[in-house]
Amino acid sequence: MLHLPIDDPQMAKLISQEEGRLENTLNLIAAENHSPQSILEVMGSGFNTKTIEGYPKKRFHAGCVNVDEVETLAIERGKSLFGAEYINVQPHSGTSANLAVYFSVLNIGDKILSMSLPHGGHLSHGHKASITSKCFDFSHYRVNPETGLIDYEKLREIALRVKPKMIVAGASSYPRLIDYEKMAQIAKEASALLLADMAHLAGLVAAKVIPSPVPHCDFVTFTCYKTLMGGRGGAILCKEIYGKKIDSAVFPGCQGTTAVNLLAAKALIFKLAHEEKFILIQKKTLENAKIMAQAFKDKGYRIISGGTDNHQVVIDLTSKGISGKSAEECLESVGIVMNRNVVPEDEKNPGKVSGIRLGSGAVSARGLGESQILKIVELMDMTMMNQEKKEVLEEVRVEVSKLCQAFPVNGSAQ
Ligand SMILES: *Cc1c(COP(=O)(O)O)cnc(C)c1O
Repeated sequence: MLHLPIDDPQMAKLISQEEGRLENTLNLIAAENHSPQSILEVMGSGFNTKTIEGYPKKRFHAGCVNVDEVETLAIERGKSLFGAEYINVQPHSGTSANLAVYFSVLNIGDKILSMSLPHGGHLSHGHKASITSKCFDFSHYRVNPETGLIDYEKLREIALRVKPKMIVAGASSYPRLIDYEKMAQIAKEASALLLADMAHLAGLVAAKVIPSPVPHCDFVTFTCYKTLMGGRGGAILCKEIYGKKIDSAVFPGCQGTTAVNLLAAKALIFKLAHEEKFILIQKKTLENAKIMAQAFKDKGYRIISGGTDNHQVVIDLTSKGISGKSAEECLESVGIVMNRNVVPEDEKNPGKVSGIRLGSGAVSARGLGESQILKIVELMDMTMMNQEKKEVLEEVRVEVSKLCQAFPVNGSAQ
């Protein structure tokens, strides 16, 4: 950076500190990833200037010659990557993408059936704190408390009784595969439209290491910055017949001009996602999550659903006598960054957060493999079980530091 240190030394320092933090901590936040350096270059490029209301060749401002090409590239590459009939690449975020889908085909007050938040659903799936719940009439399905898996029989029962106009398949915190085919059958039986929200899963789906919802759903939304490893922002895939409705629901329905630098980052990640390097990271992400789940299980931790089929491991800490919050805090103090998370049982005690959610995406992007993952689980267990023991925490800090140095962000180990 050449100009920022002169214009705003305080901000320059914060950026440098943040880059240092990312480099010197292990990131197990399931909703984050380390993007390739080229993504950061594109996001800070000259494409910040342009205002583009509308769609390629149908703009409300002059000067769109290059940005029309950028959006067209993102569209073509996105459709081909996910095998979709139609894509809108303008949503500012996953939440914006979901809003646009709801408003494209539903009327205010219409019924939607989605996953309950303590069971894994997302705020934008009708949580009471989200505007989505004020606009639409949500019902929620749950997981089976024993197995931790979506209770499809109950889901079907609710769908046939409530008759929602739309069913949402997708979650923020669900470590197992979703049976999209079964969801599509239920949606068909209930005459509901099916939206899959694969915000967390897009990178794994792009690399074809887990099944894609695209063939089974009317709409699929996702974010570009979780397993997909791209810049910020979201996108909507849909059947061709909904294309026009989706486009007008995004702009001018829910958004104004979109961010061209993010469109460019989307086009870029849709290209990189075909490459060997990306596919290997996604394979490693899956393997590392399985290794992590098994290692915690071996140490007597209660893993929600007993394991994982994606990048997430969700752990209920109740039997270990610690809260999600204290785990989050003590782990951050030793350089292991992850987040507390509600587990299905927390539904009965509002405000209680008994678990943690781990993601293997960012450490896999750094190149960590089996032996390092086993080491991290060991270090996490030592930390959580010895929160008051300064010398143990210091020992862990040193080990975390060594791992970070051996596997730099965007280093050659990747
Ligand atoms: C992360 C996530 C989103 C999108 O979130 P934004 O913060 O709006 O980008 C949407 N749905 C699910 C299931 C998510 O996990």
